[in-house]
Amino acid sequence: MKSGILFLGTSGEISVTGKQLRNSGGIILKTKDCQFLIDPGPGTLNKAAEYGINLRENTAILLSHSHMNHCNDINAVIAAMTHNGLDPKGVIITGPSITEQNIITQFHQKCIERLIVTQPDKKIGIENIEIQTTKADHDDPHTMGFKIYSSKFLVGYTSDTKYSKEIAEQYKKTDILIINCVHLDKTKQKQLTVDDAVKIIQIAKPKLAILTHFSKKILASEPIYIAREMQKQLKTQVIAAEDGMHIDPVSYSAQLQQKTLNLYRKGKN
Ligand SMILES: [Zn+2]
Repeated sequence: MKSGILFLGTSGEISVTGKQLRNSGGIILKTKDCQFLIDPGPGTLNKAAEYGINLRENTAILLSHSHMNHCNDINAVIAAMTHNGLDPKGVIITGPSITEQNIITQFHQKCIERLIVTQPDKKIGIENIEIQTTKADHDDPHTMGFKIYSSKFLVGYTSDTKYSKEIAEQYKKTDILIINCVHLDKTKQKQLTVDDAVKIIQIAKPKLAILTHFSKKILASEPIYIAREMQKQLKTQVIAAEDGMHIDPVSYSAQLQQKTLNLYRKGKN
């Protein structure tokens, strides 16, 4: 993969992850010079190999929080990335829950270049990319989302969170917004529903919204169909992620511009 976003997994709850009805290996974001791995859940090594991703090329790993689906394979990924510490490299950006719960072993902490334990609303520069951490409201109180700024595009990732207007507003101006749309119906859990995703898209107005992190119930209702309905209602491009799905953020936005231009021309004639 040259550049773009690749979904190693799209599972969002244990009933799906446990049976691997969908994979759970996180998300790869690749730019010209850097490779980021977001939330390496169970199966990351396996799926990276299957989809042709070389984990040795990781520049940084972003761990949004300490739940199993988001960080289970972190030690295995560090081992693969650094050849068990023979070639120490890579940066990890995360919140304090990961260190408080000793999720990364002492040994694996020594294998990486830098472990950045941070909080929401911070900016971290990694090579020519800027990562901004965002607020989330989830059972792990230190959960955060991310905004990743490259010279060509801005990608947002909500991670697991309850809906609030303030949380949605953080993602204004994103080109691509990845939304962990876990539930079909109203829930007591601090996670997003389909209605919450609609509200977030209405406020953030990304060029493209990608739904992922699905529960069993949402899978039964066909995420592709849900995304299509949202797109009709919102007049925003919405797609449902699938395992192994690849999006090129640069050409995707170029395509959108082209479509708008064609529409405009049609209107004129
Ligand atoms: Zn969670």
